[in-house]
Amino acid sequence: MADDASSPDSRPPDSPIIVWFRLDLRLADNPALRAAVDSGRRVVPLFILDDADAGPWKPGGATRWWLHGSLERLAADLAERGAPLVLRAGKAADVLDTLIEETGAGAVAWNRRYEPWAIARDKEIKAALKDRGLDVASHDAALLFEPWTVETKTGGPYKVYTPFWRACRARAEEIARPAAAPRAVPGLDPAPASEALENWGLRPTKPDWAGGLRETWTPGEAGARARLDRFLDEAAARYDDRRNRPDLPGTSGLSPHLHWGEIGPRRVWHAVEHARAEAGGAAGEAMEAFLQEIVWREFSYHLLYHFPDLPDEPLDDRFAGFPWADDPDGRLVRAWQRGRTGYPVVDAGMRELWTTGWMHNRVRMITASFLVKHLLQPWQAGEAWFWDTLVDADLASNSASWQWVAGCGADAAPYFRIFNPVLQGEKFDPDGTYVRHWVPEIAALPDKYLHKPWEAPSAALDRAGVILGETYPAPVVDHKQARRRALDAFETIKTGA
Ligand code: FAD
Repeated sequence: MADDASSPDSRPPDSPIIVWFRLDLRLADNPALRAAVDSGRRVVPLFILDDADAGPWKPGGATRWWLHGSLERLAADLAERGAPLVLRAGKAADVLDTLIEETGAGAVAWNRRYEPWAIARDKEIKAALKDRGLDVASHDAALLFEPWTVETKTGGPYKVYTPFWRACRARAEEIARPAAAPRAVPGLDPAPASEALENWGLRPTKPDWAGGLRETWTPGEAGARARLDRFLDEAAARYDDRRNRPDLPGTSGLSPHLHWGEIGPRRVWHAVEHARAEAGGAAGEAMEAFLQEIVWREFSYHLLYHFPDLPDEPLDDRFAGFPWADDPDGRLVRAWQRGRTGYPVVDAGMRELWTTGWMHNRVRMITASFLVKHLLQPWQAGEAWFWDTLVDADLASNSASWQWVAGCGADAAPYFRIFNPVLQGEKFDPDGTYVRHWVPEIAALPDKYLHKPWEAPSAALDRAGVILGETYPAPVVDHKQARRRALDAFETIKTGA
């Protein structure tokens, strides 16, 4: 739905309109683009590399790699329809001013973002442009329900997921059907100058760590649609019982596409709802479980909007004084980052993350819990590493999830529930397929010892060619001791000791 479309009209009604693309890198189901095309004005599509505005939350390495590919696709799709994408780097307000000057644009449209820094910046820009007589309209593209539209019975934000889910589910009929991409986007001739994408340095050069990302992903709107179709064909009907298994292709892999808005949640929702209604029975229920995950994303945005300190400060302020352990030379955090903790499922996850830019949700929970509870390191250290290495790094989902795992977030896992990485590995990777793939140096161990190599007799280690401490690390901490230490640390904030 559009917001604030009117202004004192000092600009000619047929002057061009700038469509400022942000986290909505798609043509279909893009209300800002659709409104611009429908306005009959010529369209100037713009993407701003706005690192300066985002401060510490500018895109990390893996999302920058993704952005390059996504912009390439978006530029090709727009050029085909008649309006080349203009790329400019800098402070958004300055870039917009310059482009308005160059093109004589009389209107600007965008789809809303919900990060605190983006909200503050966009408000300022909107006010300044309106003061100058431009038509400015922001639209709703990234969520099923905007954060301020879902309220508890007493009128405040939700802090518990299940009632939030119920409230969203009850309003499902309000979710608009996604609009088709415009057939033509009439642009300016000549088109405004664009910076060259290659010059933005979004992709790594030396060392080129992105080989695994290239093999795994196809950024862009078409890649997103293909992922959704494949999920519906191959995995949706069994989502509920396979989604916790990192060894199986049980989830959609849509997260980076959703983050960059190459596909919107409305399209995903309607496609899955349709499949659910057709399938019925157990398959239908499995798809309902998937819709609940889409609503976890909504819940994360709801939390970020209502609690803007979410990325930095624990929601539960008892945790502000949590006695984290020292790690003076960074040895523990480094072992975790590199997948060298000696706990196979943790190491598999961290290596999957480094290689592909993605990690299975179950393993995200295991690895995050390991950092925060076994290594007693602040959740913000993990949040920062994920921010840099995930292709789906998303301020709302990342901070809400880290706080959830750390026990200080909304509806969080209780701090005293400490995952045992051995039992988690045995339960969710029962044949060891996942660990053997990502930790090949222990692949020849028998199943019985795969998730706990330190318990293997020396003959079994010999046969598998494993020398603990040499070919594969010995555990960096002992599970039982680490668990005890974490519980003691929690006692101090519980009691204020
Ligand atoms: P599917 O199971 O196919 O789910 C479909 C979609 O639902 C996902 O694409 C995602 O958009 C949404 N979703 C699923 N689970 C969650 C969840 N728990 N919270 C919020 N949204 C969810 N997700 C991100 O998109 N970006 C992040 O930066 C991020 N950081 C995380 C950090 C930690 C410590 C943890 C435990 C989870 C994090 N998640 C994050 C949530 C979740 O792990 C991923 O969304 C999911 O693994 C993506 O894979 P998928 O697309 O195959 O998910």
